Amino acid sequence: MPAKRILITGAAGFLGSHLCDRFIREGYHVIAMDNLITGDLKNIEHLFKLPEFEFYNHDVSTYIHIAGHLDYILHFASPASPIDYLKIPIQTLKVGALGTHNCLGLAKAKQARILVASTSEVYGDPLVHPQTEEYWGNVNPVGPRGVYDEAKRFMESITRAYYTFHGVETRIVRIFNTYGPRMRLNDGRALPAFIGQALRGEDLTVFGDGSQTRSFCYVDDLVDGIYRLLMSDYSMPVNIGNPNEISLKDFAEEVLKLTGSSVKITYKPLPVDDPKQRRPDITKAREILGWEPKIDRAEGLKRTYDYFRSLPEEEWSKQPK
Ligand code: NAD
Repeated sequence: MPAKRILITGAAGFLGSHLCDRFIREGYHVIAMDNLITGDLKNIEHLFKLPEFEFYNHDVSTYIHIAGHLDYILHFASPASPIDYLKIPIQTLKVGALGTHNCLGLAKAKQARILVASTSEVYGDPLVHPQTEEYWGNVNPVGPRGVYDEAKRFMESITRAYYTFHGVETRIVRIFNTYGPRMRLNDGRALPAFIGQALRGEDLTVFGDGSQTRSFCYVDDLVDGIYRLLMSDYSMPVNIGNPNEISLKDFAEEVLKLTGSSVKITYKPLPVDDPKQRRPDITKAREILGWEPKIDRAEGLKRTYDYFRSLPEEEWSKQPK
C-alpha cells in the first residue's frame, strides 16, 4: 500500500519540525511547507535526504498548490511567540485567516482531514481556571496580543464552518505552552529566555512579581496528543497541555538549580495583557484521546537544557530583539 501523504505547514518551526519527525517515523510521506519567516531549515535539514520528505518554501497565506492526493493536513504555520507576532502583526493575522482558508480549501479539494493549531491564547486573560474547552475566553481584540489571539479565534470559526457547511473532516487542537529542543533561545518566551540568561551567566528576568502561573508541556507529549487527535473522530476543540502549574518565580528558581548557576532573579514591569494564570483542563484529552502528559518538568527541562548547551556558544549570545 502506498504511504499516506500529509502536508505540514510551518514545518521548519519548533513544533512543525517535531511533527515532521513523528510522521516520518510513522511511515508517512511528508510534504513540508514553510516561508521561514520565524522558522529555520536547520530544524528539518536531517530529513532532506529522505525520499519520503519534500520541502516547499512557500507563504501559505497565498494560494497553495499540491500535486497528487493528500490524506491529511496539519496547519501549524504562524508566528507563535509574542516577540514575533508583535513584530509582524499583519502577517500573523493573514496566516491565521487567509492561510487557514487556503488550507481548508485544499482539504476540501483533496478530501483530506485537516487539523489546525489553535492556542490557549483563545482564552485570553482567563476568568475561569483551569480552562475547559467550553470557556469562551477573555480577549482584548485591540490589545497588542489581539493580532494573534483573534487570528486563532477566527481560525477556529472558519474551521468549524468548513466542517458544518462543506463536510470537511476538521480537528482543532488548543495548544498550551510547549517547550523542548529547537525552540529559539531568543524567541522571548520565559523558558528559553531563562536558559539563555543562565548559560550567559546573566541574572534571570522575571516580569511582574513572578506570581503569574504557566504550565509547560514537553514537546514529545504534545506531538503525541496531536497525533491521537488527528486519528480520532472528534471535531470540536481539544486542549493539549500539561496541567502541572508553576509560578514564573518558582520556575526561574528551578532553572537556576538545574543549571547550577549562581546568578540572581531580577524583576521588570509586566507587559500589557500578559495573562496571569494559564492551566489546561485536560479531561477531554484524557477521556476522548486516552492522552495525558508523561514527561515531567524535571526530565523535560533537562533534555531542553542539554540541547541548548550543545549549541555553539555564539547561539547563546542571541538576545531577544
Ligand atoms: P515557530 O515560529 O517555531 O514555527 C512557526 C512556523 O511557521 C515557522 O517555521 C514559520 O516560518 C512558519 N510560518 C509562519 N507564517 C508562515 C506563512 N505565512 N507561510 C508559511 N510558513 C509560515 O512556532 P511554533 O512554536 O512551532 O508554533 C507552531 C504553531 O503552533 C503555531 O501555529 C502556533 O500558533 C501554535 N502554538 C504553539 C505553541 C507553543 O507553545 N509553541 C502554543 C500554542 C500554539
